[in-house]
Amino acid sequence: MYKFEINKKLYALRPEGTASVLRAVIENKLSLPARYLYIWHMYRRERPQKGRYREFLQIGIELLGEGGPFYDAEIIDLGNRFLHIVGARDFTIEINSIGCPKDRALYRKKLKAYLQPSFNKLCPDCQRRFKSNFLRIFDCKKTSCQKILDKAPKISEHLCSECSQHYATVKNFLKTLGIPYTENKKLVRGLDYYTRTVFEFKHKLVGAQDTILAGGRYDLLMKELGGVDTPCTGWAMGVDRLLLSLPPDVPKIEHAKIFYIATIGERFVDEMAKLRNAVHEHNFICLMGNPSESIKRQLKNANRQNADYVFIYGEDEAKECVYTVRDMKSGEQKKLPIKDSLSLLKSISMESSA
Ligand SMILES: [Zn+2]
Ligand SMILES: [Zn+2]
Repeated sequence: MYKFEINKKLYALRPEGTASVLRAVIENKLSLPARYLYIWHMYRRERPQKGRYREFLQIGIELLGEGGPFYDAEIIDLGNRFLHIVGARDFTIEINSIGCPKDRALYRKKLKAYLQPSFNKLCPDCQRRFKSNFLRIFDCKKTSCQKILDKAPKISEHLCSECSQHYATVKNFLKTLGIPYTENKKLVRGLDYYTRTVFEFKHKLVGAQDTILAGGRYDLLMKELGGVDTPCTGWAMGVDRLLLSLPPDVPKIEHAKIFYIATIGERFVDEMAKLRNAVHEHNFICLMGNPSESIKRQLKNANRQNADYVFIYGEDEAKECVYTVRDMKSGEQKKLPIKDSLSLLKSISMESSA
């Protein structure tokens, strides 16, 4: 953190946005669930290097009040989509699960037993970290430490049944959505309030400091800051590093219509993914409801998020091979054969560019 003293008072410049967003929600009793986006200046103390400056612009999103694995996939999807829209290529997505505090306490004992014989061979940083914030030792860049850690037991192999189920479901959703990822068992987020899914988007052009977007689930932070126990997830991206990873011919982005896909039951997620890809092809924004929630709640969410159109796909629609399309501005609702939905997207696309 960039800290300094003026007239015996200690000040710190904002290092990141998540805690600020959560404090705003707590202090103003804002309603949840909610999705937030911010683009703020942040500050770090360390010596500047390529793509890492003392003052930097950060884009962050936070999805508050939803704990289901579907939402971990949603925000990873959002990061992936965003990078594609702005023209970033050649990045990879790495994911891992660091479980819950109970898993970590048990795992810490296992790791301690494994490290015991070689503990003195770890660098002083790792030795210190193991005592204060033990998962962080996996962040160590020293080859001698990494050699020891390569063979260490990994947290994702020591999850309780709930956390392991959650992780498996996140991976399934990513597969369904067609988002390529790799599992990195040494990927950790060093702060205690992180839980379950963590992820990083890496780009090879940026050099050694190759992470352009990083985030994860942090179900414990809201309570720690004095709020109601609330599951949360989010990510942040440094704009300077993002720019370094972009090709010179970045496409222009127009204001886009918002589509929301509501469906009941996870068996319809494949259909949802197909429709979502069609919506994205027209450069519209596509939000997806949680298939385990009622249509009523999903419509409420769509409304709260200013959706222009909602596509509904459930039992009846599947039988009739239609989507129910609701124009949220006029309230008009009609059934549309699936094959005609593409021409609808096309006509809206022409309308909005006219
Ligand atoms: Zn757990
Ligand atoms: Zn080390």
